[in-house]
Amino acid sequence: MSSLNGAAADLADLSSQGYEPWLFQTMLNELSVSELGIEMVMCGGEPGAGLKDVRARIETAYGAKLYDNSGAVHTFHGVGCNSPEQMMHLVSEDYCVLELLDPETKSVVELRDGATGEMVFTYLDIEGTPFLRYSLGDVLQVFTSPCGCGRPGLRFKILSGDDQIWLDNSSGKTVIIKLRPNVVFHDGEKFDAEAAKYSLERQMTMQGSFRRPELGSVASIEAVDPLTIKLNLKAPFSPLIAQLTDRAGMMVSPAAIKASRTGSVLNGLIMASIFFTAAN
Ligand SMILES: [Zn+2]
Repeated sequence: MSSLNGAAADLADLSSQGYEPWLFQTMLNELSVSELGIEMVMCGGEPGAGLKDVRARIETAYGAKLYDNSGAVHTFHGVGCNSPEQMMHLVSEDYCVLELLDPETKSVVELRDGATGEMVFTYLDIEGTPFLRYSLGDVLQVFTSPCGCGRPGLRFKILSGDDQIWLDNSSGKTVIIKLRPNVVFHDGEKFDAEAAKYSLERQMTMQGSFRRPELGSVASIEAVDPLTIKLNLKAPFSPLIAQLTDRAGMMVSPAAIKASRTGSVLNGLIMASIFFTAAN
């Protein structure tokens, strides 16, 4: 186990990649995963599995082959192959149009070999809530050159994700969430850490709140700085991240609530995109 714990420590050092290092560290501390007979590990939704060092550590710890995939349930989907280049093949070109944009100017970047840009995709042949030029905030690098595995079509690497959630690696009882800057509510009020703290605490304490059980693992919330909140948990509770992507994580304008007589106004309600699924 000592070597496994060493690998876990290395993974913890890579905590900037989000949820996976914490998960693997926890697993490695409690299980001898290399003895489980796992032959293939598929990771998704984070840049980590495409990083050479992270990939090597996971494969060493599990004694398994690692494959990357782009995660999520939307139609933009990429899957890694056996090529050592650690890219993903875009396997859903019939269902999804991919565009790259300059992250600053939002001008379209040509999909040439080696091009980088913010990914934007549009659903094709989807009847329910199709995404039109939707951005996850991820920056990709695309490749049009042939892959050694022989599969044709576009390949890509995720260079950076927009996930802004960190878990405390030592206890799993602290969730730190970075908020998007320059977001305002529909009533023009600023969305910041105090507003996020207010919204969550309101869900946790409001009489008749149906969201209270979903936030039951949260002991307290701190506004660390204007764009950072910290959730102190009673105990590690990984489903919390998923809970926050649903109604429990919806943000309301504190000013609109305070101005309302009932405190139940819908005006001013937004679903601020502060949370992204760790499962993504
Ligand atoms: Zn390939």
